[in-house]
Amino acid sequence: MEWTRGPVLGRGSTATVSAATSAHGDLFAVKSVNFQHASSLQKEQHFLSILNSPYVVSYKGCDTTTENNNIIYNMFMDYMSGGSLIDLIKTRNGLNELEIARYTRQILQGLEYIHSNGIVHCDIKGRNILINESGAKIGDFGCAKWADQAAPICGTPMFMAPEVARGEEQGFPADVWAVGCTVIEMATGDSPWPNVDDPVAILYRIAFSSKVPGIPDGFSDQAMDFVSKCLIRDPRRRWTAIELLEHPFIRQFDDALNQIVCEKIRTESGSPTSVLDQDVWDSMKETSSVGIDFDQYSLRQIIKQLACKSEMPNWKCEKGETDWITVRTNRDVDGRANSGAVTGGGR
Ligand code: ATP
Ligand code: MG
Repeated sequence: MEWTRGPVLGRGSTATVSAATSAHGDLFAVKSVNFQHASSLQKEQHFLSILNSPYVVSYKGCDTTTENNNIIYNMFMDYMSGGSLIDLIKTRNGLNELEIARYTRQILQGLEYIHSNGIVHCDIKGRNILINESGAKIGDFGCAKWADQAAPICGTPMFMAPEVARGEEQGFPADVWAVGCTVIEMATGDSPWPNVDDPVAILYRIAFSSKVPGIPDGFSDQAMDFVSKCLIRDPRRRWTAIELLEHPFIRQFDDALNQIVCEKIRTESGSPTSVLDQDVWDSMKETSSVGIDFDQYSLRQIIKQLACKSEMPNWKCEKGETDWITVRTNRDVDGRANSGAVTGGGR
């Protein structure tokens, strides 16, 4: 199979996401990483290939390619024309309550779906929510795990729930805490812990204080109550995704939300109107994801490691990244020789 790699759409801590086209001219997104470091992306492929929801980014197959003498593992997904929610938030300098309710409802619908399938996402944040004309979908399953699976703590320190920061457990309630943090991110355009610069201090505060992220100024009573239900420090008392979908903050806008026709989000937000637009994809260092095996370290070491690992390289588009490169698949990852279509595998 032949496909053509286009410009970089975004970079995270683990992988590069580029635009791509098939020989038939279909546009899609490809998330790529050197095969030697592909375990997280292969895990993501595993989860995405068994999920099918309008609120989860759609999986379209995977392959390996050889580029500049490197073996690259590629995972194909639907191209999300609005980029990530953080891009929209940054461009608008925060969203209004109707928009926040709309995206939050879609995120919760996605979470309800993945939780009902026994999967914990573990890294909900604006940068991992992807936007297109119909709204928000959950992306980046690189930290996901089965709820009953013993797995190393993974995620983004700033969005970690207290029980996660203490290394105790990372279950469905941890995703809900991260939704509360993401609502604050949507409202303020800022981190949920804006006045604490030191990541170690943030993790100690999350883990051991009685504090929760501050509710943004100007929030309505219902929005404040909604966030407070997400940010209950005790995970057993925290509301579930299903309960939150019935919260008045989400329900009050039902009519308005249902009436919203597909917006031209990209045009409105200033997100890239063409896959060739490059400048908007800068990353924020404080929002990168990390994975840590809590069993091997003392809590103090873990918190330091989480904080250090959250340092992100200063991603810049390198010369030549705007070029479209034709790549030829080596083989499907399960070893079969490739046939012609980009789509395939999984479902
Ligand atoms: P992290 O730092 O969270 O671990 P990552 O390496 O796992 O990130 P992703 O979060 O999956 O990578 O993607 C990085 C960025 O690429 C996103 O924030 C978004 O801007 C862009 N992106 C990802 N998937 C798509 C897509 N399907 N369509 C358009 N843009 C995308
Ligand atoms: Mg990500």
